[in-house]
Amino acid sequence: MPYICPPINHHKNMQETYFKALRVQESTDKTFTRKVEQRQIKDLPDGELLVNVSYAALNYKDALSAIGNKGVSRHYPHTPGIDAAGIVAESTNENFKAGEEVIVTSYDLGMNTDGGFAEYIRVPAAWVVKKPASLSLYESMVIGTAGFTAALALYKMEKMGQQSAMGSVLVTGASGGVGSLAVAILSKAGYEVIASTGKTEAHKYLSRLGARQCVDRAFANDDSRRPLLKPQWAAAIDTVGGNTLVTALKACKRAGTVASCGLVGSPKIEATVFPFIINGVNLIGVDSANCEMNIRQQVWDQLAQDWKPEHLSSIATDCSLEELDPYIDQILAGKVRGRVIVGM
Ligand code: NDP
Repeated sequence: MPYICPPINHHKNMQETYFKALRVQESTDKTFTRKVEQRQIKDLPDGELLVNVSYAALNYKDALSAIGNKGVSRHYPHTPGIDAAGIVAESTNENFKAGEEVIVTSYDLGMNTDGGFAEYIRVPAAWVVKKPASLSLYESMVIGTAGFTAALALYKMEKMGQQSAMGSVLVTGASGGVGSLAVAILSKAGYEVIASTGKTEAHKYLSRLGARQCVDRAFANDDSRRPLLKPQWAAAIDTVGGNTLVTALKACKRAGTVASCGLVGSPKIEATVFPFIINGVNLIGVDSANCEMNIRQQVWDQLAQDWKPEHLSSIATDCSLEELDPYIDQILAGKVRGRVIVGM
């Protein structure tokens, strides 16, 4: 007879409480399988805060973790999920109380620490952001690591002197998670956006998010091998890497900033120094996972106010933990539009 899990909260001892989690298992022949399983709170890693997850969100990195990419997650069985938002269930840290709404993204969550594709996570307090009042838990996950990364790119670009009056900003991989949020955040912050996408059918969606112009991804993937191109944009947020990042640099106007965020195309770049020494273009790196907490909190506060994207719900596709599996394959194939939000 199958074991039937007792309902959550009926346990006096929280440690014994059962919850659902998406577990990735490595078998002896080095293949990886994933399925929703029951776990107990006592199985979670140590940490000051136990958080009852309300929503998680799917990122490209989660999909890599879910297929056994050892560059992301070394040890299995493992629960992926680098984004989680929920309610503190237990806290041994004086800055957080049970019942508070919090956002947990980045650091080691979902990499080598059991992540957000579960009803509970346990994490160090140093990883936790208090949810700004003007964002709901759901909205904070539509933004999640993707939106945080896009906003951190803009924050760093503005520190380098970027302003909306300098001209349009190119966003590559625009229909993906980071790309969609970059389009929406830049547009909310007053920038004109050129959205580069491989999906013709996403043009309407990207225009609704605020893109002034939608172009095919070939437009931002120059194969002329010329060291510099006619200036086409004043800055760029690039999620693709490879030759797309090089093109973003070559066609950037004087003194503009190009933010390198991702590598869905390629991690390798073959470039010359001419964009830097002739046009004074800046190339900056965006590393959301290890961003300092004081900057992290400032960026989340911006995201909750002046940069809060319009149309957040149109960026989201909702699913349950049990329905998540096919989206993992889709994001690896570059086929997910916007953000997949997992309701617990
Ligand atoms: P998504 O899969 O949601 O988006 C990626 C998008 O890139 C796709 O939707 C597609 O958009 C485009 N794309 C996919 N494959 C290719 C290809 N071969 N060539 C050109 N374009 C392609 O991923 P995320 O938005 O979650 O992540 C994007 C990148 O950013 C990843 O590399 C991820 O690791 C990185 N990242 C980095 C962070 C950081 O801190 N630096 C944080 C979060 C993510 P379209 O069809 O519109 O062109």
